[in-house]
Amino acid sequence: MFTVLAGGVGASRFLQGLAHATDPSNITVISNTGDDVEMFGLHVSPDTDIVIYALAGAVNPETGWGLTGDTFAVVDALQRYGYERWFNLGDRDLAMAIHRTRLLHEGVPMHEIVAGLTAAWGLQCRILPMSNEPIRTQITGPDGVLPFQEYMVKLRTETDVRSIAFAGIESAPPAPGVLEALRESEAVILAPSNPFVSIGPILAVPGIRDALAASKATRIAISPIIAGEVVKGPAAKMMVTLGHEVSAVGVARIYAGLIDVMVIDEQDRALAPQVEALGMRCLVTDTMMTSDERKAELASAVLSQVAS
Ligand code: GDP
Repeated sequence: MFTVLAGGVGASRFLQGLAHATDPSNITVISNTGDDVEMFGLHVSPDTDIVIYALAGAVNPETGWGLTGDTFAVVDALQRYGYERWFNLGDRDLAMAIHRTRLLHEGVPMHEIVAGLTAAWGLQCRILPMSNEPIRTQITGPDGVLPFQEYMVKLRTETDVRSIAFAGIESAPPAPGVLEALRESEAVILAPSNPFVSIGPILAVPGIRDALAASKATRIAISPIIAGEVVKGPAAKMMVTLGHEVSAVGVARIYAGLIDVMVIDEQDRALAPQVEALGMRCLVTDTMMTSDERKAELASAVLSQVAS
């Protein structure tokens, strides 16, 4: 079994490749739920949904989130009743949120809900929320604390991130299956996701970091930073304001002690000795996932690192 710690867009691209490179029924995804948000009275799990839609081949390739060809009539219509329009939730995407919310109200645990959604989309892989309990990523900027989606979507990340907290995490155990997956997998892969707000919350769930540190799996991380820049999103800006070097080496330092292999891009080949000096192997390969072939090639290269 291969277990992947996953955020949204970067992770879902990698997972599409992995599902081509290996039998999808061998894949377990541990999904970040720190981005979850209550919108219009509905529970939305953006990262989990991106992964489901991407693996189902239904994600909008232009945005990396939402469903291809979705419309936005409901969020438009809600403005009449005074709702704000900053959070884009497509009409068909809302169906997922309605279903998830109803089940949560009935007391169904999140891991069962996600299993049902995964099956409804015909996926072979297993997707686990990092925890069944609510955990909310909060960003502290110059003007105070912001819920994650307000920072990400409403403010379009245009504020300095001074610190990040995960409200509720102390009393949020890992979801059933999470620790077993970390213990029993041949490989645990940290997707090329944001280290602070995608992988960070997963590792901060009590017990997960320790289980990963103790795991006999080959632990592999893929840098979301290529040539000192992100492909998309605020990870590089966060690295600056949180005092990290904006490079694949900076990412490797964050994961040092937890991983065996760091995967960096060809463009960063010169950084390999610095990565190896941190006590890990370094795989240099093409990590820009611009086509289905390149996604699958990256996944195959990653799997080639797994100890047999
Ligand atoms: P989010 O939760 O939707 O922001 O998604 P993630 O945290 O999973 O992914 C965001 C990260 O993915 C960003 O830091 C990007 O740099 C990274 N990313 C996106 N596409 C690629 C790619 O093709 N290659 C690599 N190496 N990183 C990527």
